[in-house]
Amino acid sequence: MTKPLVKVRDLKMHFPIYAGLLRRQVGAVKAVDGVSFDILEGETLGLVGESGCGKSTCGRAVLRLYDITGGEITIDGRAIGAEDQRSLRAMRPTMQMVFQDPQACLNPRMTVGAIIGEPLMEHTGLSGAERTDRVRELMDQVGLNRAFINRYPHEFSGGQRQRIGIARALALNPKFIVCDEPIAALDVSIQAQVVNLLEELQDSLGLTYLFISHDLSMVRHIADRVAVMYLGKVVELAPRDALYGEPLHPYTEALLSAVPEPDPAMAGNKRQRIVLQGDVPSPANPPQGCNFCTRCPKVMDICRKIDPDFHEVKPGHWAACHLHDLD
Ligand code: SF4
Repeated sequence: MTKPLVKVRDLKMHFPIYAGLLRRQVGAVKAVDGVSFDILEGETLGLVGESGCGKSTCGRAVLRLYDITGGEITIDGRAIGAEDQRSLRAMRPTMQMVFQDPQACLNPRMTVGAIIGEPLMEHTGLSGAERTDRVRELMDQVGLNRAFINRYPHEFSGGQRQRIGIARALALNPKFIVCDEPIAALDVSIQAQVVNLLEELQDSLGLTYLFISHDLSMVRHIADRVAVMYLGKVVELAPRDALYGEPLHPYTEALLSAVPEPDPAMAGNKRQRIVLQGDVPSPANPPQGCNFCTRCPKVMDICRKIDPDFHEVKPGHWAACHLHDLD
């Protein structure tokens, strides 16, 4: 049986709010508020939710791009939740990130060779010639023409720039990659190519992914298991087919009811569209009890008082909802 490569327990990432002349802390934005999950070796865990639900912050916090507020993170057997940024440096090769907007994260003044080779400079003792060989190898791996090694990012299309970002993330042979909305900024025609590339690389290199996206159709395609986030918390986590076939949490039901059915033969079986009323509450002032109680079509009295436990309702299928306390 495969073991977890990544373990996250009760992860919290709160950003303080300061106000007044003395800049006193008057509250906190609870962007991630007690999230727990495992990611097995070689698996893709999809993390979905509306924008602003905290999924990108969660991905960055798992890689310790932030100093987290609380919780435990273990990656490849090493607890990194409390480590300072200097000691984390040795772990950086193992864990990498592919960002949403390749345009924004590639230095326009550096050639592709320098961009992909930068982590090799930072973390390895390779000579210049060895680095160039490795960069060419990486360009082959991600489907970029190695003859373009001296070109600049603006000379590439959006899809090619994302391939540059992926090659850079692969440079140090990572085991775990957080893909933060890696296709959201790309034309629809290019999205499938990049997702297929990520899948091929996973198969050939044995990579483990946390794939963050608001696109439920794409997550259904790529993920083995899926976690659904709402207002800083994971409200449901299950193997892909169980989650899409039989969602347990009312929020997941509402999200899935809005996904178009690609197969015309199945279109008649499509669930009824659930339109949620009201806005997502502020993460600085989440509601008491269940954080979905202000919008939930199935809300009960208990929901406004007691925050439901995130518990295993069926084998491997977790949810945080009082409806399933009653089972
Ligand atoms: Fe809805 Fe209550 Fe379940 Fe929250 S606990 S999702 S409010 S039914």
